[in-house]
Amino acid sequence: MFKALVLQHDGNQLTADIQQLDDDDLPKGNVDIAIDYSSLNYKDALAITGQGQIIRRFPMVPGIDFSGTVISSSDSRYQQGNQVVLTGYGVGEKHWGGMAGKAKVNADWLVPLVDGLDSKQAMQIGTAGLTAMLSVMAIEEAGMTPEQGEVLVTGASGGVGSVVISLLDALGYRVVAVTARMSNKIQLQSLGASRVISRDELLTAIKPLDSQHWAAVIDCVGSHILAKAISQTQYGGVVTACGLAAGAGLDTTVLPFILRGVKLIGIDSVYCPYQRRLIAWQRLAKLLPTEFFANACQQIGLDQVTLYSQKMLQGKVKGRLVIKV
Ligand code: NDP
Repeated sequence: MFKALVLQHDGNQLTADIQQLDDDDLPKGNVDIAIDYSSLNYKDALAITGQGQIIRRFPMVPGIDFSGTVISSSDSRYQQGNQVVLTGYGVGEKHWGGMAGKAKVNADWLVPLVDGLDSKQAMQIGTAGLTAMLSVMAIEEAGMTPEQGEVLVTGASGGVGSVVISLLDALGYRVVAVTARMSNKIQLQSLGASRVISRDELLTAIKPLDSQHWAAVIDCVGSHILAKAISQTQYGGVVTACGLAAGAGLDTTVLPFILRGVKLIGIDSVYCPYQRRLIAWQRLAKLLPTEFFANACQQIGLDQVTLYSQKMLQGKVKGRLVIKV
């Protein structure tokens, strides 16, 4: 028997309860895993509070990521005792996820835990951190280098934003962090932001072509702020979009793209191919300083997940939340 957070829906109301499950309850999969840690991501918070129609099949164990140890495997790539990490692939949405003592998954969805990280650190990074790394890789691949100017990071206090700031700082970029929580300025500076600006500065009216401020933008929030940031991106600059914390809309014009050659790159971690996921994990292990794990991560239990999901959607969580299952 093992513990799991189980979401149920009776047609009107969603409930989230901790239950004792049996191995026979688990869905089909060719690798059985004892889970050490999961993490709370924005998508989990939407799922657990019943917003955003993330989960369409109930009962469901949430948790879009986890780290753990293989108990048994019928796939030759994994053997008993291997430490593994899972992110995405609809786990915690369509297939039972990481907020449980055990999981049964498809081997294709796993990566081995990379050298330089332990199981807890892997989930302190989690899906948000993987997405941060993929965003940084995207601006590098678009030709961005630290000499080209400041990089704007939106949603800076959140999971993706805080990892992006740490990574860019480690790579020598000058980072400008955007936050609604100016009280968090010192923490953002300690993560590596060279300047912290208020979200209000980006909530003013959008001109099709504004003054050119940013060599690159890593956006986690979408909507007005993303449109504003695009209009302020320098000639030849690059903008990545991974999130929608402010909304899914994007009211912009083509002018920054056709007159300034600005590139807009979408980031998806869920179906990111195996080799790229592995490279991203290896780079995270090398680049993230130990202070990131000490300063930007908090541990919670399964019994606190509902409360922290609500807090996350209210913009009251800082950094990353790792869940000890
Ligand atoms: P968090 O909740 O940890 O952080 C989001 C941050 O965005 C908040 O801390 C806040 O930062 C800012 N924010 C919140 N609400 C608003 C708002 N209304 N307007 C502007 N800014 C706002 O989430 P994550 O960092 O984990 O995720 C960020 C986004 O990235 C989410 O939309 C998530 O779904 C998406 N995501 C996408 C992935 C992908 O594969 N594409 C994978 C992982 C995440 P502050 O207080 O500093 O202003």
